[in-house]
Amino acid sequence: MRKKKTALGKSRISQYSNRNKVIRALGFINYHHYLESNLWKEIRARVLAQNRVCLKCGGEKYLQIHHKKYTKANLSGKDIKNLIVLCKKCHRKVTRIENLGQLTAMRATTKFLASKNK
Ligand SMILES: [Zn+2]
Repeated sequence: MRKKKTALGKSRISQYSNRNKVIRALGFINYHHYLESNLWKEIRARVLAQNRVCLKCGGEKYLQIHHKKYTKANLSGKDIKNLIVLCKKCHRKVTRIENLGQLTAMRATTKFLASKNK
């Protein structure tokens, strides 16, 4: 049981180091720099063009894009399938589940979307 938690913690840490590696390979200093870029604005607009409501609560305000996974394909905008629309409140909740549970973004998202928590 304990071993499993460590392994999860590790994959969670590596998801961010992999993300940051891709971010630098794309020519950005860090993730914050990436989020301010035109590339991200364009990706964000494409995701919102497909879906204009929060996937969890159906809210239409304060929409944000959540990464279920960080891949070279979605960070570069080649493939946006692991990007979903969440409102600010739901995005905060999924991030909390991820951090508290030491989960990867993908596991936290699956858990959050399946939960009855509104
Ligand atoms: Zn929501």
